[in-house]
Amino acid sequence: MKDEDRVREAAVEAVRRASVVCRAVQAKLVDASTLKKKDKSPVTVADFASQAVVCSVLERHFGDDAVVGEEDSAELREDGNRSLRAEVVAQTRTILGDGVGENDVLGWIDRGGSDARSGRYWTLDPIDGTKGFLRGEQYAVALALIEDGEVVFGVLGCPNLDRDGKAGALFVASRSTGAHMLDLWDDSDSSGTAISVAQISTASEGRFCESVESGHSDQSESARIAERLGITREPFRIDSQCKYACVARDDASIYLRLPTRADYREKIWDHAAGKLVVECAGGRVTDVDGRELDFTHGRTLDENRGVIATCGPIHDEVLKAVAEVRGS
Ligand code: AMP
Ligand code: MG
Repeated sequence: MKDEDRVREAAVEAVRRASVVCRAVQAKLVDASTLKKKDKSPVTVADFASQAVVCSVLERHFGDDAVVGEEDSAELREDGNRSLRAEVVAQTRTILGDGVGENDVLGWIDRGGSDARSGRYWTLDPIDGTKGFLRGEQYAVALALIEDGEVVFGVLGCPNLDRDGKAGALFVASRSTGAHMLDLWDDSDSSGTAISVAQISTASEGRFCESVESGHSDQSESARIAERLGITREPFRIDSQCKYACVARDDASIYLRLPTRADYREKIWDHAAGKLVVECAGGRVTDVDGRELDFTHGRTLDENRGVIATCGPIHDEVLKAVAEVRGS
């Protein structure tokens, strides 16, 4: 099997299985399964179980590959978190079998703790859009493979993203095969359908999407940018890298992520998979200043600010409006 086929098989299996765990936990979400991380973002049983499942699948297929994941097990190992830990182990067992022990699960979570920054490594957001997840709304399991600073493969599992009344979409992207949307829950759907971005040539014909959370993207600035571009259609707000998926499959033509704080640095796992999905569907992705996203600085996009993703031909027009509004 070609290496790319092996990568695809492993990444799709990992994200599909993790999505099953996330869906089950979201369905019975209760406050007890939420604790506050030190940075105050909510972490759930599903975050940890999702990371354990993805890392165990990657370990089986590619035992030598490093994984730069969002979570680590330090807090989960604390005495006070015994019941949370037991729940994470129980959820992981539903996917990987009863033979799985606590140390296996903690070990897999920590396999995602690499700080690899060169060569070949995976980056994982086990639940991107935790706030959407906790609200019972949209979130994504995001996994990408980076080689020498280039995102070469990306998979997004979007359990609640629907089309034609059916929820659960899996997006798979690589430069050689393009971007495809598959049924997230049906393992027999191995190729899905090719997706492509909106075919428009001026921004005013388009529609934009942005974060639900106003702390993650400046929503008053985006309204001014839309006005300047002559966009009259209402934006839609959706959590997680589902925004990239929406641009890739033409639910929206623009995704604006406008910094709310000068010191915030975007995390690689929040963008690697989504960026590739949009690019392979024919779109363009840069930061707010028009720079390419630069994945050569470790866990964060140190040299970038915010993100602008579009269907392509309108990208420069959007960047110009962004610069004018942000500069004023
Ligand atoms: P979204 O669902 O698009 O609003 O983005 C969720 C992601 O936003 C989380 O995974 C966080 O890593 C990230 N995030 C947290 N704080 C900020 C911030 N101040 N600005 C931008 N993104 C943030
Ligand atoms: Mg995230």
